Amino acid sequence: MVAELITVGTEILMGNIVNTNAAYLSEMCARLGLTLYYETTVGDNEKRMYDTIRTALDRSDIVILSGGLGPTQDDITKDTAAKVMGIPLVEDSHTRKRIQHYFETLKGKDVKITENNWRQALVPQGAIVLDNENGTAPGLIMEKDDRTVILLPGPPSELKPMFEGQVFPYLEKKQPQVLSSRMVKLCGIGESMAETMIEDMISAQKNPTIAPYAKIGEVHLRVTASAVDDEAAGRLIKPVVKELKKRFGKHIYTTDEKVTLEESLIKLMKKKKLTLTCAESCTGGAISARLVNVPGASDVLKQGLVTYSNKAKRRYLGVKKATLKAVGAVSRETAWEMAKGGCFQTGTDACIAVTGIAGPGGGTDEKPVGLVYIGCCVGGHVKVKEYHFSGNRAKIREQSVVAALTLLRSCILKHKC
Ligand code: ATP
Ligand code: MG
Repeated sequence: MVAELITVGTEILMGNIVNTNAAYLSEMCARLGLTLYYETTVGDNEKRMYDTIRTALDRSDIVILSGGLGPTQDDITKDTAAKVMGIPLVEDSHTRKRIQHYFETLKGKDVKITENNWRQALVPQGAIVLDNENGTAPGLIMEKDDRTVILLPGPPSELKPMFEGQVFPYLEKKQPQVLSSRMVKLCGIGESMAETMIEDMISAQKNPTIAPYAKIGEVHLRVTASAVDDEAAGRLIKPVVKELKKRFGKHIYTTDEKVTLEESLIKLMKKKKLTLTCAESCTGGAISARLVNVPGASDVLKQGLVTYSNKAKRRYLGVKKATLKAVGAVSRETAWEMAKGGCFQTGTDACIAVTGIAGPGGGTDEKPVGLVYIGCCVGGHVKVKEYHFSGNRAKIREQSVVAALTLLRSCILKHKC
């Protein structure tokens, strides 16, 4: 079944508010297994809104609108949608009582019912009225000639509970199929390589489908199946995830949508009872910050040292003066000594160390902007990798952080303990 969204409000077109309702409703439609081809935003203008609803009804089975249900003159969604459907407005006594009750509960807050509040008690004849537990404007469902129009209030605090409590179950009954998905998250592999490795699966796919998303330093694969219920969809997804696991092996750090790379890393280190020091130069503490996002990171992360200057690298990490003089701070050797020294100076089992040129200045032909060395010491063994990142300063630093977490993870997986 094809659904379509129309978000109403000139303030959305002006960029004054972020259209979170569109994102929320799209996600809900996907969860319900509804196909969505169009999302439109239209201002508070009757003619344009009329045309937008008309067009949507010509090509979609279900049209969901948000916004413009309030009591003021610019709130014209209900009148316009009813006009397009050719349905007259009549007073709904149940809604009138609810509005009365809503204002009574606000007693003492100096709020009076004004005449325009009663406009909200007018509903299209025969419409299903959706009670608004968090405001006065009821939501409405109009059905005519195999078409359904659903009107929802604009404020997300009113729209979301109304959708979840009343619209979701209504649409679930209308739409026998559900869409269910699993996320397979990869690190240490580029998007093109990942896609090439599953090209055959993608070109043969029908149900489930595999959609790759590139994130900085990561690739996420969403496996989505359509079925009569979640359980049946899960049965379709399972063999596909199994095949992905076979192909990507240790590059997969989780198959749980909610788990982040840093979470999986902290969990892994906790399991192996390993402690960590971060020794950072160009990332300026960003690796520690990512790890500290995870509750319970203190079991693993013991300290983060931002050794930005050569002096700090010598004093806190024991990098040799001769090394810095001979090959400079951004070098394989310095990264090696930072990682080794990080463990030695602090007594942790592991140390991840980063030194690089984030730019925009400071690059040379020999050492261009984006050159980053990451050293990782686990149980006395040190591994250093050289990277050439592109983009601006922020992007180079962000890529360095993910590369550091990925290298640390791979060294820990190889570490025997
Ligand atoms: P009200 O009774 O509050 O006027 P309404 O149904 O008429 O509600 P609007 O007037 O269109 O809705 O919007 C009211 C408020 O709801 C906006 O100021 C904004 O804060 C929020 N809102 C509206 N549409 C959206 C949207 N698409 N995404 C996020 N927030 C929204
Ligand atoms: Mg309004």
